[in-house]
Amino acid sequence: MKKLILTLSLCALACSNSLSATTLVAPDKAEQMLQKQAQHFKQRIVQVSPNVYTAVGYHGATTSMIVGDDGVIIIDTLMGPSSAKNALTDFRKYSKKPVKAIIYTHSHGDHVGGTSAFTQGQNVTIIGPSGMNNHHGTDTTLDNIMKKREMRQFGRTLPTHEQSNRGVAQAKTIDHDRGKGFIPPNIRVDDRYKTQISGVDIEIYRAAGETNDTMFIWLPKEQVLFSGDNFYQAFPNLYAIRGTPYRDVRVWAKSVTKMAAFEPTAIVGGHTSPIIGKKQATAALKDYSEAIQSVFEQTIAGMNNGLDPISIGQSIKLPSHLHDKPYLTEFYGTASHASRAIYSGMLGWFDGNPKNLNPLSNLELAKKMAVLAGGSQQLLNQLQLAVSTQEFQWALELASHLSYLPEIDSQQVILAQISSLRALAAREYNAPNRNYYFSYANELEQILIK
Ligand SMILES: [Zn+2]
Repeated sequence: MKKLILTLSLCALACSNSLSATTLVAPDKAEQMLQKQAQHFKQRIVQVSPNVYTAVGYHGATTSMIVGDDGVIIIDTLMGPSSAKNALTDFRKYSKKPVKAIIYTHSHGDHVGGTSAFTQGQNVTIIGPSGMNNHHGTDTTLDNIMKKREMRQFGRTLPTHEQSNRGVAQAKTIDHDRGKGFIPPNIRVDDRYKTQISGVDIEIYRAAGETNDTMFIWLPKEQVLFSGDNFYQAFPNLYAIRGTPYRDVRVWAKSVTKMAAFEPTAIVGGHTSPIIGKKQATAALKDYSEAIQSVFEQTIAGMNNGLDPISIGQSIKLPSHLHDKPYLTEFYGTASHASRAIYSGMLGWFDGNPKNLNPLSNLELAKKMAVLAGGSQQLLNQLQLAVSTQEFQWALELASHLSYLPEIDSQQVILAQISSLRALAAREYNAPNRNYYFSYANELEQILIK
Protein backbone atom coordinates (compact mmCIF):
# COMPACT_ATOMS: atom_id res chain seq x y z
CA MET A 1 0.00 0.00 0.00
CA LYS A 2 2.80 2.34 0.97
CA LYS A 3 4.60 1.62 -2.31
CA LEU A 4 1.50 2.22 -4.39
CA ILE A 5 0.95 5.62 -2.77
CA LEU A 6 4.62 6.42 -3.37
CA THR A 7 4.36 5.62 -7.08
CA LEU A 8 1.16 7.64 -7.44
CA SER A 9 2.59 10.67 -5.66
CA LEU A 10 5.73 10.58 -7.83
CA CYS A 11 3.51 10.46 -10.88
CA ALA A 12 1.48 13.40 -9.64
CA LEU A 13 4.73 15.32 -9.23
CA ALA A 14 6.24 14.38 -12.57
CA CYS A 15 3.03 14.73 -14.54
CA SER A 16 1.78 18.02 -13.10
CA ASN A 17 3.44 20.28 -15.67
CA SER A 18 3.42 17.93 -18.57
CA LEU A 19 1.89 18.47 -21.99
CA SER A 20 0.34 15.67 -23.98
CA ALA A 21 2.70 16.57 -26.80
CA THR A 22 5.38 19.23 -26.86
CA THR A 23 5.43 19.78 -30.60
CA LEU A 24 1.82 20.95 -31.11
CA VAL A 25 1.33 24.69 -31.58
CA ALA A 26 -1.12 26.95 -33.43
CA PRO A 27 -1.36 25.99 -37.15
CA ASP A 28 0.16 29.20 -38.53
CA LYS A 29 3.02 29.03 -36.01
CA ALA A 30 3.75 25.40 -37.02
CA GLU A 31 3.84 26.40 -40.68
CA GLN A 32 6.07 29.39 -39.98
CA MET A 33 8.53 27.26 -38.00
CA LEU A 34 8.70 24.60 -40.71
CA GLN A 35 9.24 27.24 -43.39
CA LYS A 36 12.14 28.65 -41.39
CA GLN A 37 13.67 25.20 -41.01
CA ALA A 38 13.43 24.80 -44.81
CA GLN A 39 16.34 27.24 -45.27
CA HIS A 40 18.55 24.27 -44.32
CA PHE A 41 17.51 22.33 -47.43
CA LYS A 42 17.82 25.11 -49.99
CA GLN A 43 19.96 23.68 -52.77
CA ARG A 44 23.42 25.24 -52.75
CA ILE A 45 27.14 24.64 -52.38
CA VAL A 46 28.57 25.94 -49.09
CA GLN A 47 32.28 26.66 -48.85
CA VAL A 48 33.03 25.32 -45.38
CA SER A 49 36.79 26.04 -45.34
CA PRO A 50 39.42 26.91 -48.01
CA ASN A 51 39.36 23.36 -49.46
CA VAL A 52 36.04 21.92 -48.30
CA TYR A 53 32.71 22.33 -50.09
CA THR A 54 29.38 20.89 -48.95
CA ALA A 55 26.39 20.35 -51.24
CA VAL A 56 23.15 20.96 -49.34
CA GLY A 57 19.66 20.20 -50.68
CA TYR A 58 20.63 18.03 -53.67
CA HIS A 59 18.91 15.14 -51.89
CA GLY A 60 17.95 14.72 -48.23
CA ALA A 61 21.51 14.32 -46.95
CA THR A 62 24.66 16.32 -47.60
CA THR A 63 27.65 15.36 -49.73
CA SER A 64 31.02 17.10 -49.40
CA MET A 65 34.12 17.56 -51.54
CA ILE A 66 37.60 18.01 -50.09
CA VAL A 67 40.07 19.42 -52.61
CA GLY A 68 43.60 17.92 -52.40
CA ASP A 69 46.79 18.34 -54.45
CA ASP A 70 45.95 16.09 -57.37
CA GLY A 71 42.38 14.99 -56.69
CA VAL A 72 39.26 15.38 -54.58
CA ILE A 73 37.76 13.25 -51.80
CA ILE A 74 33.98 12.87 -51.47
CA ILE A 75 32.21 12.34 -48.14
CA ASP A 76 28.86 10.54 -48.61
CA THR A 77 27.15 10.11 -51.97
CA LEU A 78 23.40 10.81 -51.46
CA MET A 79 20.55 8.38 -52.29
CA GLY A 80 21.11 7.68 -55.99
CA PRO A 81 23.25 8.62 -59.02
CA SER A 82 20.90 11.36 -60.35
CA SER A 83 21.14 13.56 -57.25
CA ALA A 84 24.85 12.73 -56.89
CA LYS A 85 25.44 13.78 -60.52
CA ASN A 86 23.70 17.11 -59.91
CA ALA A 87 25.91 17.75 -56.86
CA LEU A 88 29.06 16.75 -58.76
CA THR A 89 28.19 19.11 -61.63
CA ASP A 90 28.08 22.00 -59.16
CA PHE A 91 31.22 20.81 -57.29
CA ARG A 92 33.00 21.01 -60.65
CA LYS A 93 32.60 24.81 -60.57
CA TYR A 94 35.15 24.75 -57.73
CA SER A 95 37.51 21.91 -58.75
CA LYS A 96 37.92 19.74 -61.83
CA LYS A 97 40.44 17.38 -60.21
CA PRO A 98 39.61 13.64 -60.42
CA VAL A 99 37.78 11.85 -57.60
CA LYS A 100 40.46 9.88 -55.70
CA ALA A 101 38.46 8.57 -52.76
CA ILE A 102 34.99 8.31 -51.27
CA ILE A 103 34.23 7.97 -47.58
CA TYR A 104 30.86 6.79 -46.19
CA THR A 105 29.90 8.13 -42.75
CA HIS A 106 27.43 5.25 -42.20
CA SER A 107 25.34 2.71 -44.06
CA HIS A 108 21.99 4.51 -44.39
CA GLY A 109 20.74 4.55 -47.98
CA ASP A 110 20.54 8.33 -48.29
CA HIS A 111 24.33 8.57 -47.78
CA VAL A 112 25.67 5.77 -49.96
CA GLY A 113 23.47 5.20 -53.03
CA GLY A 114 24.96 7.66 -55.53
CA THR A 115 28.62 6.53 -55.55
CA SER A 116 28.82 5.51 -59.24
CA ALA A 117 28.13 9.12 -60.30
CA PHE A 118 31.37 10.12 -58.56
CA THR A 119 33.57 7.14 -59.57
CA GLN A 120 32.41 7.12 -63.24
CA GLY A 121 33.78 3.63 -63.79
CA GLN A 122 37.23 4.42 -62.40
CA ASN A 123 38.94 2.48 -59.62
CA VAL A 124 38.53 4.67 -56.59
CA THR A 125 39.40 4.10 -52.93
CA ILE A 126 36.12 3.68 -51.03
CA ILE A 127 36.29 3.77 -47.26
CA GLY A 128 33.40 2.66 -45.06
CA PRO A 129 32.65 1.00 -41.76
CA SER A 130 33.32 -2.74 -41.45
CA GLY A 131 30.21 -4.87 -41.82
CA MET A 132 28.63 -2.62 -44.43
CA ASN A 133 27.55 -4.60 -47.50
CA ASN A 134 24.47 -2.98 -48.97
CA HIS A 135 22.69 0.33 -49.32
CA HIS A 136 19.60 -0.58 -47.25
CA GLY A 137 20.84 0.41 -43.81
CA THR A 138 17.74 -1.25 -42.26
CA ASP A 139 16.57 -4.81 -41.59
CA THR A 140 14.91 -5.94 -44.83
CA THR A 141 12.93 -8.74 -43.12
CA LEU A 142 10.57 -5.99 -41.95
CA ASP A 143 10.27 -4.28 -45.32
CA ASN A 144 6.53 -4.84 -45.55
CA ILE A 145 5.69 -2.71 -42.52
CA MET A 146 8.78 -0.48 -42.52
CA LYS A 147 8.16 0.75 -46.06
CA LYS A 148 4.59 1.67 -45.17
CA ARG A 149 5.62 3.52 -42.01
CA GLU A 150 8.56 5.17 -43.73
CA MET A 151 6.20 6.50 -46.44
CA ARG A 152 4.05 8.03 -43.73
CA GLN A 153 6.96 9.46 -41.72
CA PHE A 154 8.45 11.14 -44.78
CA GLY A 155 5.07 12.06 -46.27
CA ARG A 156 6.11 10.52 -49.58
CA THR A 157 2.57 10.36 -51.00
CA LEU A 158 1.23 13.66 -49.64
CA PRO A 159 -0.38 16.13 -52.06
CA THR A 160 1.50 19.43 -52.44
CA HIS A 161 -0.76 21.38 -50.09
CA GLU A 162 0.02 18.95 -47.24
CA GLN A 163 3.76 18.82 -47.83
CA SER A 164 6.12 20.79 -45.61
CA ASN A 165 9.44 18.99 -45.16
CA ARG A 166 10.99 15.98 -43.44
CA GLY A 167 12.58 17.80 -40.51
CA VAL A 168 16.14 17.46 -41.80
CA ALA A 169 15.33 17.20 -45.49
CA GLN A 170 13.07 18.76 -48.09
CA ALA A 171 9.67 17.21 -48.84
CA LYS A 172 10.52 16.09 -52.37
CA THR A 173 13.65 14.21 -53.40
CA ILE A 174 14.68 12.13 -56.44
CA ASP A 175 14.19 8.55 -55.25
CA HIS A 176 13.58 6.43 -58.39
CA ASP A 177 17.27 5.44 -58.55
CA ARG A 178 17.61 4.73 -54.84
CA GLY A 179 20.75 2.68 -54.13
CA LYS A 180 21.48 2.19 -57.86
CA GLY A 181 24.97 3.68 -57.61
CA PHE A 182 26.09 1.92 -54.44
CA ILE A 183 29.60 0.46 -54.48
CA PRO A 184 30.80 -1.42 -51.37
CA PRO A 185 33.86 -0.08 -49.53
CA ASN A 186 37.28 -1.52 -50.40
CA ILE A 187 38.78 -0.25 -47.13
CA ARG A 188 36.80 -1.06 -43.99
CA VAL A 189 37.24 0.69 -40.67
CA ASP A 190 36.83 -1.26 -37.40
CA ASP A 191 37.80 1.38 -34.90
CA ARG A 192 39.93 4.19 -36.32
CA TYR A 193 41.91 4.83 -39.48
CA LYS A 194 44.43 7.48 -40.46
CA THR A 195 45.51 8.12 -44.01
CA GLN A 196 46.68 10.76 -46.48
CA ILE A 197 44.93 11.12 -49.83
CA SER A 198 46.03 13.70 -52.42
CA GLY A 199 48.09 15.36 -49.70
CA VAL A 200 45.07 15.67 -47.33
CA ASP A 201 45.49 14.17 -43.86
CA ILE A 202 42.32 12.33 -42.86
CA GLU A 203 41.39 10.75 -39.54
CA ILE A 204 38.35 8.48 -39.27
CA TYR A 205 36.79 7.37 -35.96
CA ARG A 206 33.98 4.87 -35.39
CA ALA A 207 31.42 6.55 -33.11
CA ALA A 208 28.03 4.82 -32.85
CA GLY A 209 24.88 6.93 -32.68
CA GLU A 210 22.10 6.97 -35.24
CA THR A 211 23.62 3.72 -36.51
CA ASN A 212 26.09 1.37 -34.85
CA ASP A 213 28.41 1.76 -37.83
CA THR A 214 28.60 5.59 -37.83
CA MET A 215 32.06 7.10 -38.30
CA PHE A 216 33.11 10.74 -38.06
CA ILE A 217 35.82 12.19 -40.25
CA TRP A 218 38.34 14.76 -39.03
CA LEU A 219 40.62 16.91 -41.15
CA PRO A 220 43.42 17.97 -38.77
CA LYS A 221 44.76 20.68 -41.09
CA GLU A 222 41.48 22.40 -41.95
CA GLN A 223 39.95 21.49 -38.59
CA VAL A 224 36.71 20.40 -40.25
CA LEU A 225 34.62 17.58 -38.78
CA PHE A 226 32.05 15.50 -40.69
CA SER A 227 29.61 13.94 -38.24
CA GLY A 228 27.35 11.75 -40.37
CA ASP A 229 23.89 11.62 -38.81
CA ASN A 230 25.11 11.92 -35.23
CA PHE A 231 24.61 15.66 -35.69
CA TYR A 232 22.36 17.88 -37.84
CA GLN A 233 20.41 21.03 -37.16
CA ALA A 234 17.31 19.56 -35.47
CA PHE A 235 16.69 17.52 -32.32
CA PRO A 236 18.33 14.13 -33.00
CA ASN A 237 16.15 11.28 -34.16
CA LEU A 238 17.02 9.14 -31.14
CA TYR A 239 13.97 7.11 -32.17
CA ALA A 240 12.41 7.07 -35.65
CA ILE A 241 8.64 6.52 -35.81
CA ARG A 242 9.06 4.47 -38.99
CA GLY A 243 10.39 1.91 -36.49
CA THR A 244 14.00 1.19 -35.57
CA PRO A 245 15.88 -1.12 -33.22
CA TYR A 246 17.08 0.64 -30.06
CA ARG A 247 19.61 3.35 -30.82
CA ASP A 248 21.87 3.41 -27.77
CA VAL A 249 21.26 6.96 -26.57
CA ARG A 250 24.04 6.91 -23.96
CA VAL A 251 26.59 5.91 -26.61
CA TRP A 252 25.24 8.57 -29.00
CA ALA A 253 25.80 11.28 -26.36
CA LYS A 254 29.37 10.02 -25.79
CA SER A 255 30.11 10.04 -29.51
CA VAL A 256 29.04 13.69 -29.78
CA THR A 257 31.14 14.59 -26.71
CA LYS A 258 34.09 12.96 -28.45
CA MET A 259 33.47 15.10 -31.55
CA ALA A 260 33.15 18.29 -29.47
CA ALA A 261 36.60 17.59 -27.94
CA PHE A 262 38.17 18.29 -31.36
CA GLU A 263 36.84 21.89 -31.19
CA PRO A 264 36.31 22.01 -34.98
CA THR A 265 36.24 25.26 -36.93
CA ALA A 266 33.30 23.77 -38.84
CA ILE A 267 30.89 20.91 -38.29
CA VAL A 268 29.33 19.33 -41.37
CA GLY A 269 26.24 17.35 -40.37
CA GLY A 270 24.79 14.44 -42.32
CA HIS A 271 21.82 16.71 -43.14
CA THR A 272 21.05 20.48 -43.02
CA SER A 273 23.54 23.36 -43.24
CA PRO A 274 27.08 23.13 -41.84
CA ILE A 275 27.91 25.30 -38.81
CA ILE A 276 30.97 27.39 -39.47
CA GLY A 277 33.11 29.07 -36.78
CA LYS A 278 35.03 27.35 -33.98
CA LYS A 279 32.95 28.84 -31.18
CA GLN A 280 29.59 28.05 -32.82
CA ALA A 281 30.53 24.57 -34.04
CA THR A 282 32.01 23.47 -30.72
CA ALA A 283 29.13 24.93 -28.71
CA ALA A 284 26.60 23.18 -30.96
CA LEU A 285 28.27 19.80 -30.41
CA LYS A 286 28.51 20.33 -26.65
CA ASP A 287 24.85 21.38 -26.43
CA TYR A 288 23.78 18.44 -28.57
CA SER A 289 25.55 15.91 -26.39
CA GLU A 290 24.26 17.57 -23.20
CA ALA A 291 20.68 17.44 -24.53
CA ILE A 292 20.94 13.74 -25.40
CA GLN A 293 22.55 12.92 -22.05
CA SER A 294 19.86 14.91 -20.23
CA VAL A 295 17.02 12.99 -21.93
CA PHE A 296 18.79 9.77 -21.01
CA GLU A 297 19.31 10.71 -17.35
CA GLN A 298 15.76 12.01 -16.86
CA THR A 299 14.39 8.81 -18.35
CA ILE A 300 16.58 6.60 -16.15
CA ALA A 301 15.51 8.57 -13.06
CA GLY A 302 11.85 8.12 -13.99
CA MET A 303 12.34 4.41 -14.66
CA ASN A 304 14.04 3.88 -11.32
CA ASN A 305 11.17 5.72 -9.65
CA GLY A 306 8.72 3.24 -11.14
CA LEU A 307 7.07 5.61 -13.59
CA ASP A 308 5.60 4.37 -16.86
CA PRO A 309 7.14 5.31 -20.22
CA ILE A 310 4.34 7.65 -21.35
CA SER A 311 4.45 9.65 -18.11
CA ILE A 312 8.23 9.89 -18.26
CA GLY A 313 8.10 10.98 -21.90
CA GLN A 314 5.56 13.69 -21.10
CA SER A 315 7.70 15.04 -18.24
CA ILE A 316 11.04 15.32 -20.09
CA LYS A 317 12.35 18.86 -20.32
CA LEU A 318 15.63 20.06 -21.74
CA PRO A 319 17.79 22.24 -19.46
CA SER A 320 16.60 25.85 -19.81
CA HIS A 321 19.83 27.13 -21.43
CA LEU A 322 19.17 24.72 -24.33
CA HIS A 323 15.57 25.78 -24.98
CA ASP A 324 16.26 28.37 -27.66
CA LYS A 325 18.99 26.49 -29.56
CA PRO A 326 17.76 26.17 -33.15
CA TYR A 327 19.67 22.90 -33.67
CA LEU A 328 17.73 21.33 -30.79
CA THR A 329 14.22 22.26 -31.96
CA GLU A 330 12.17 19.07 -32.31
CA PHE A 331 11.74 19.25 -36.08
CA TYR A 332 12.97 15.66 -36.51
CA GLY A 333 13.34 13.65 -33.29
CA THR A 334 11.41 14.43 -30.09
CA ALA A 335 12.55 14.09 -26.49
CA SER A 336 9.37 12.27 -25.46
CA HIS A 337 9.66 9.65 -28.21
CA ALA A 338 13.34 9.23 -27.36
CA SER A 339 12.49 8.67 -23.74
CA ARG A 340 9.94 5.96 -24.58
CA ALA A 341 12.56 4.28 -26.78
CA ILE A 342 15.09 4.33 -23.93
CA TYR A 343 12.49 2.70 -21.69
CA SER A 344 11.72 -0.14 -24.08
CA GLY A 345 15.36 -0.43 -25.16
CA MET A 346 16.50 -0.99 -21.60
CA LEU A 347 13.51 -2.56 -19.80
CA GLY A 348 11.48 -3.98 -22.68
CA TRP A 349 7.76 -3.55 -23.35
CA PHE A 350 6.47 -4.23 -19.83
CA ASP A 351 5.83 -0.95 -17.99
CA GLY A 352 5.62 -2.64 -14.58
CA ASN A 353 1.85 -2.20 -14.29
CA PRO A 354 0.23 -5.61 -13.59
CA LYS A 355 -2.89 -4.65 -15.59
CA ASN A 356 -0.74 -4.98 -18.68
CA LEU A 357 0.32 -8.59 -18.01
CA ASN A 358 -2.99 -9.98 -19.33
CA PRO A 359 -4.79 -7.02 -20.89
CA LEU A 360 -8.37 -7.08 -22.19
CA SER A 361 -8.64 -7.48 -25.93
CA ASN A 362 -9.39 -4.31 -27.88
CA LEU A 363 -12.93 -5.58 -28.55
CA GLU A 364 -13.63 -6.36 -24.87
CA LEU A 365 -12.33 -2.95 -23.83
CA ALA A 366 -14.40 -1.19 -26.51
CA LYS A 367 -17.58 -2.99 -25.38
CA LYS A 368 -16.99 -1.98 -21.76
CA MET A 369 -16.26 1.63 -22.74
CA ALA A 370 -19.57 1.65 -24.62
CA VAL A 371 -21.41 0.38 -21.52
CA LEU A 372 -19.73 3.10 -19.43
CA ALA A 373 -20.78 5.77 -21.93
CA GLY A 374 -24.39 4.56 -21.75
CA GLY A 375 -24.33 2.61 -25.01
CA SER A 376 -22.31 2.55 -28.21
CA GLN A 377 -24.36 5.37 -29.77
CA GLN A 378 -23.45 7.56 -26.77
CA LEU A 379 -19.81 6.68 -27.27
CA LEU A 380 -20.14 7.83 -30.87
CA ASN A 381 -21.80 11.06 -29.67
CA GLN A 382 -18.80 11.62 -27.40
CA LEU A 383 -16.50 11.19 -30.38
CA GLN A 384 -18.39 13.85 -32.34
CA LEU A 385 -18.37 16.14 -29.31
CA ALA A 386 -14.59 15.70 -28.96
CA VAL A 387 -14.06 16.72 -32.58
CA SER A 388 -16.32 19.77 -32.29
CA THR A 389 -14.60 20.92 -29.06
CA GLN A 390 -11.18 20.37 -30.72
CA GLU A 391 -10.10 17.64 -28.31
CA PHE A 392 -8.44 15.81 -31.14
CA GLN A 393 -6.27 13.39 -29.18
CA TRP A 394 -9.30 12.36 -27.12
CA ALA A 395 -11.23 11.93 -30.36
CA LEU A 396 -8.57 9.52 -31.64
CA GLU A 397 -8.78 7.52 -28.40
CA LEU A 398 -12.58 7.25 -28.68
CA ALA A 399 -12.43 6.44 -32.39
CA SER A 400 -9.98 3.67 -31.63
CA HIS A 401 -12.53 2.00 -29.30
CA LEU A 402 -15.45 2.60 -31.65
CA SER A 403 -13.64 1.04 -34.59
CA TYR A 404 -13.98 -2.38 -32.85
CA LEU A 405 -17.75 -2.18 -32.39
CA PRO A 406 -19.58 -3.87 -35.31
CA GLU A 407 -22.89 -2.11 -34.58
CA ILE A 408 -21.35 1.31 -35.21
CA ASP A 409 -21.43 2.99 -38.61
CA SER A 410 -17.73 2.86 -39.43
CA GLN A 411 -18.00 5.74 -41.91
CA GLN A 412 -18.84 8.19 -39.14
CA VAL A 413 -15.90 6.99 -37.04
CA ILE A 414 -13.49 7.25 -39.96
CA LEU A 415 -14.69 10.76 -40.86
CA ALA A 416 -14.04 11.87 -37.26
CA GLN A 417 -10.61 10.25 -37.33
CA ILE A 418 -9.72 11.97 -40.59
CA SER A 419 -10.65 15.42 -39.34
CA SER A 420 -8.85 14.87 -36.01
CA LEU A 421 -5.69 13.61 -37.72
CA ARG A 422 -5.67 16.56 -40.13
CA ALA A 423 -6.24 19.02 -37.29
CA LEU A 424 -3.33 17.52 -35.32
CA ALA A 425 -1.14 17.49 -38.44
CA ALA A 426 -1.78 21.19 -39.03
CA ARG A 427 -0.63 21.96 -35.47
CA GLU A 428 2.55 19.84 -35.59
CA TYR A 429 5.97 21.32 -36.21
CA ASN A 430 7.61 17.93 -35.74
CA ALA A 431 7.82 16.89 -39.39
CA PRO A 432 7.62 13.08 -38.98
CA ASN A 433 4.53 13.38 -36.72
CA ARG A 434 2.93 15.88 -39.09
CA ASN A 435 3.61 13.74 -42.16
CA TYR A 436 2.39 10.62 -40.35
CA TYR A 437 -0.93 12.23 -39.33
CA PHE A 438 -1.60 13.59 -42.82
CA SER A 439 -0.62 10.32 -44.54
CA TYR A 440 -2.74 8.19 -42.21
CA ALA A 441 -5.74 10.48 -42.74
CA ASN A 442 -5.35 10.12 -46.52
CA GLU A 443 -5.15 6.33 -46.22
CA LEU A 444 -8.42 6.36 -44.24
CA GLU A 445 -10.00 8.53 -46.89
CA GLN A 446 -9.07 5.94 -49.52
CA ILE A 447 -10.93 3.30 -47.45
CA LEU A 448 -14.05 5.49 -47.57
CA ILE A 449 -13.80 5.98 -51.32
CA LYS A 450 -13.55 2.20 -51.86
ZN1 LIG B 1 20.70 10.47 -43.17
